[in-house]
Amino acid sequence: MKLFLSAISLSLLCLSCANTGQVIDNIPEQKTATIASHTVPTTLPKNIIMVIGDGMGPAYTSAYRYFSDNPNTAVVEETVFDRHLSGLSSTYPALISGVVTDSAASATALSTGIKSYNGAIGVDVNKKEIQTVLEWAKIKGKKTGVIVTSQINHATPASYLAHNESRKNYNEIADSYIDDGIKADIYLGGGWKYFIREDRNLVNEFKQAGFHYIDNYQGLESLPNNKPVLGLFADVGLPWSLDDTNKHRLSSMAKAGLHHLINLQHTDDQADNGFFMLIEGSQIDWAAHGNNISDAMAEMDDLAKTLEYLEHFVKHNPNTLVIVTADHSTGGFTIGADGEYKWATEKLRTMKHSVNYIAKELATNKINASNTTSLFNFELSQEELNLLIESKNTPKINENMYRSKSMSDSEVSLNNSVKEVMDIRSNTGWTTTGHTGVDVPVFAFGQHSELFNGSQDNIDIAKKIFMLLGKKTSH
Ligand code: MG
Ligand code: ZN
Repeated sequence: MKLFLSAISLSLLCLSCANTGQVIDNIPEQKTATIASHTVPTTLPKNIIMVIGDGMGPAYTSAYRYFSDNPNTAVVEETVFDRHLSGLSSTYPALISGVVTDSAASATALSTGIKSYNGAIGVDVNKKEIQTVLEWAKIKGKKTGVIVTSQINHATPASYLAHNESRKNYNEIADSYIDDGIKADIYLGGGWKYFIREDRNLVNEFKQAGFHYIDNYQGLESLPNNKPVLGLFADVGLPWSLDDTNKHRLSSMAKAGLHHLINLQHTDDQADNGFFMLIEGSQIDWAAHGNNISDAMAEMDDLAKTLEYLEHFVKHNPNTLVIVTADHSTGGFTIGADGEYKWATEKLRTMKHSVNYIAKELATNKINASNTTSLFNFELSQEELNLLIESKNTPKINENMYRSKSMSDSEVSLNNSVKEVMDIRSNTGWTTTGHTGVDVPVFAFGQHSELFNGSQDNIDIAKKIFMLLGKKTSH
């Protein structure tokens, strides 16, 4: 872990630099020049990878340390997050939306350097389109890619690829991926529902534009060297990590995607200008909205494995910069609850199925010791069994509970009770089913990662990326 003191003193230096315009020497053995308030390194990273853990506030990266700890050693092992902690970022949106952001406003801040209202996709408070770092990278001749576990037109990826007044206009956003010009060389995630519609088949339109299309993970193993790629693997978001055929689907997609962009560069006639890639662990947030600790930790594990692969990539490609942050925190998750000094991970670690899967199975099958032992992968107490049986027989429902269209009252109620069992077993606390306004951690490694040290705002992250992509801005 980097020394926090140096991070703080560096941020103070940056502040004084912003006031006086003087050059600071925070990049060892690198000549620097000042443009406006920023210190621009003379050599820019060739490749930039932006990673967003949706909803991943500081409690999630701390919790992941205890979740992934090897219980057979006397120490708590360091995680990939610990190795690269750089600082913190504030996340508040444009003040018309208060101080608690949604994913659209925050991703727009991270992609454009401008704060907007909650719901905004790549537009400012006046609904005017703003250029994103991905669009600028494309103009600069870089390859671009977007790899997510949500549908590829969900708020976070859309804020890098599209401009729309509302994140809810899923079809319009999907249409714009063709109609506004194709902006990425590889798209991996979910979204058949929006890309293969009765009124329009955007997959066919991508194919006509020269794209190679895949709809299963096996396809990732044989991507053609000379074609851009569209990979859609689910109707909406991908299955929960715990239920997916590949539990580390984000890291598999990231690996295949990076190799593909490098292959494309080598087969291209144009100069090899590197790439910009967005990677999102989209479903940490979805688990957190449901106050669902076991799925949140499984999604964190997929993101962590992705970052471990990126560490390896940067080692072999040192002219690459990786920045990792969250758009906001979700759920008011606390490590320990109800006055008890305890957070226990062993039952979270051995989970084999998502909460949704377990609830669905219990809604249609008998609830007994043998069924629940195989579903939870540990033995429930009689009290826990009674809780589930009562939940099924006399469902207790409120509007905050997770519900999809096909779910019966029993399944909705069971879904909540399964999470209650996991919360009690781990002693996990929650304060909300929405977002919170806490600052989020920033991690960075690779070339010029030191620029992300200390305290910053989410728009600063975009400004630094624009700077590292050679864009001169006035702010
Ligand atoms: Mg997201
Ligand atoms: Zn959210």
